[in-house]
Amino acid sequence: MTWVPDAAFAPDQPFGPRTLPYGVVDAGDADGPRVAVRVGDHALPLAPLRESLGDLADLVSGSSLDPLLAASRVEWGKLRARVREVVNGSAKPSGASLLPLTDVRGLLPFTVGDYVDFYSSSHHAENVGRIMRPETEPLFPNWTHLPVGYHGRAGTVVVSGTDVARPYGQRRGSDGPHFGPSARLDIEAEVGFVCGGPVARRVPTSDVAEHVFGVVLVNDWSARDIQGWEYQPLGPFLGKSFATSVSAWVTPLDAFAAARVPVPDVGHPRVDYLVEDSPWGLDLRLAVEWNGTVVSRPTFADMSYSCAQQLAHMTINGATVRPGDLFASGTVSGPSVDQRGSFLELSWGGRDKIDVGGETRTFLEDGDTVVITATAPGEDGSVVGLAEVAGTVLPADGG
Ligand code: CA
Repeated sequence: MTWVPDAAFAPDQPFGPRTLPYGVVDAGDADGPRVAVRVGDHALPLAPLRESLGDLADLVSGSSLDPLLAASRVEWGKLRARVREVVNGSAKPSGASLLPLTDVRGLLPFTVGDYVDFYSSSHHAENVGRIMRPETEPLFPNWTHLPVGYHGRAGTVVVSGTDVARPYGQRRGSDGPHFGPSARLDIEAEVGFVCGGPVARRVPTSDVAEHVFGVVLVNDWSARDIQGWEYQPLGPFLGKSFATSVSAWVTPLDAFAAARVPVPDVGHPRVDYLVEDSPWGLDLRLAVEWNGTVVSRPTFADMSYSCAQQLAHMTINGATVRPGDLFASGTVSGPSVDQRGSFLELSWGGRDKIDVGGETRTFLEDGDTVVITATAPGEDGSVVGLAEVAGTVLPADGG
């Protein structure tokens, strides 16, 4: 018997005691925003659990995960163990309260530092190459040697549930550029890694768990018509920077111990600093829902570069990684058509209609809602989840 509802302990519960993601919730009461862990369909605020958490409560007593991210892997492990004891315990600890998720709002849980987005699915990169540059080789020669990435806009990272206004911009026209609301608004289903621990540079792949606190889902909203006109020669810019959505809950990297798999072979040995001594690919299974219909099930195990390799690459030149930095995997696309993580690929550049619950789509229409979810195998046959990232498209704001 425990004091937590039984549903939180069901074998197929993605947010049971083996997951315990951290977030910041606001219940609209006098307590204001507070750090909590998710337990099933409830939020458990941590500040009132000082008796159970001891000194570690200082890391989670405020309105942001920033102090926790700035701590160390050792402290993350101790806190997680104590929270798990609380959740698994038979008696309700003093001060504990479970808030139904329907009664709270999830806030952006940490201050986003630098934001980097990679491009690590060979299936996505080849599909996009074929659609956007049909006359050339789909992959550039560097792609199998390094995780291609770019620096994105940290200031427009928003939490799941935030509406996204259709962006304005220039697009290519037969008689020169046209200006107006994007007509090809798209998503990219991605996995994001939230950094923490000491400031570091040249992080070896073997040290990734010292510098990555946890994992979120990311929707890298993308205006394909703006992107297609602006991206050469310097890469993504305004077609991406208007909004990037992340989960409200950060699942600790430790929760994915049973989901670690080797990354696929790239056809030749990796450069030394990208070699892993133990695998950091993750067997995450994503689902993309468009207006309530699942249109794709991307497979993260097919990604050619792991978070460890991405972090090693990001810092190999001497650039530092700091708590709060966020890097995303790149669009997650598997080898088959129903595993593609963007509508650009699912519609093959707008050529094919996608069936969305009896209606058809190519790109997003105003009012459309996209929800991305993911699970991974946990220990002993359990399931570990990543909290959803959801967003609804609003009409261009007239600006
Ligand atoms: Ca992306």
